[in-house]
Amino acid sequence: MQKHNFNAGPSILPREVIEKTAQAILDFNGSGLSLMEISHRAKDFQPVVDEARALFKELLDIPDGYSVLFLGGGASLQFCMVPYNFLEHKAAYLNTGTWAKKALKEAKGLGETVEVASSADANYTFIPKGYTVPADADYFHITTNNTIFGTELRTDPDVNVPLVGDMSSDIFSRPVDVSKYICIYGGAQKNLAPAGVTFVIVKDDALGRVSRYIPTMLNYKTHVDGGSMFNTPPVVPIYAALQTLRWIKAQGGVTEMQRRAIERSDMLYGEIDRNKLFQGTAVQEDRSRMNICFVMAPEYKELEADFLKFATERGMVGIKGHRSVGGFRASCYNALPKESVQALIDCMQEFERQH
Ligand SMILES: *Cc1c(COP(=O)(O)O)cnc(C)c1O
Repeated sequence: MQKHNFNAGPSILPREVIEKTAQAILDFNGSGLSLMEISHRAKDFQPVVDEARALFKELLDIPDGYSVLFLGGGASLQFCMVPYNFLEHKAAYLNTGTWAKKALKEAKGLGETVEVASSADANYTFIPKGYTVPADADYFHITTNNTIFGTELRTDPDVNVPLVGDMSSDIFSRPVDVSKYICIYGGAQKNLAPAGVTFVIVKDDALGRVSRYIPTMLNYKTHVDGGSMFNTPPVVPIYAALQTLRWIKAQGGVTEMQRRAIERSDMLYGEIDRNKLFQGTAVQEDRSRMNICFVMAPEYKELEADFLKFATERGMVGIKGHRSVGGFRASCYNALPKESVQALIDCMQEFERQH
């Protein structure tokens, strides 16, 4: 039976990315050696990092004066690297979910923070609006897509201080105005590569401005100067990321990824709103195009386990909702074909006919 991969992360990658990475694991560039057994400083590997960096800049239209880094530690390590490198006087955070809250916690440990707004009281079903960011903040941290709660900013807010963005789960799904940010980061395992590599886009002249000692490995400057080779980078995930970046470019770039994301999410939200058995959890205007969360309508609540079983038997993978929301979550990342979304919709309609 064909599987439809709605996993939230690690998650679906284009088939050709997996095939090309598998090939390089067997024989890297015809060298007779595996990608897993060569030095990251081998002359054949340097072009992989260089091309991945160049494609990041090209696809996201990154202006001059920014560096692209490939690091370890996941997005979670960035929660502390960001304040280490940028928090001098005060840092502002928008609390839109579990990940945003974790990022704020790390900043609190290093200096003065302001939570400018939060939707925690509403179980993060919306993105707060109408807030004011203190003009003396060093940066304003946002989580552009809330993977767990299924809300998304979808545009880069206009505020009077530089932005820092956690884009783990919506990178390359829309054009980004990078010039508004001093730092954009994310774990690669949602839209880009297998787990193990973290991308960081950092504005060079925003570095070196804090007075604290920054441990060497946590200092962005170390990795800018070292070309992401200060220590051994995650070679296999970087290679896979390069294949995804090539794939995105060949498909038509981020505007095409955005078109597909809109198409997929319009299809699925349309069915959620139409089908009497289901309802969405996030407010309409803040709905994520990447992580689509829905539950059974209250009068059909007892059918939840049945629908999960029904859909699983028909090839749907990873649609069980996160424990903090319940119900279902269909993650529709860049590599997900719209046929998979249609297959899920067919399940929802068939289940509705049976009830
Ligand atoms: C998954 C996720 C993280 C955590 O990423 P790790 O690489 O596991 O540390 C952080 N932020 C967001 C928005 C995520 O989706």
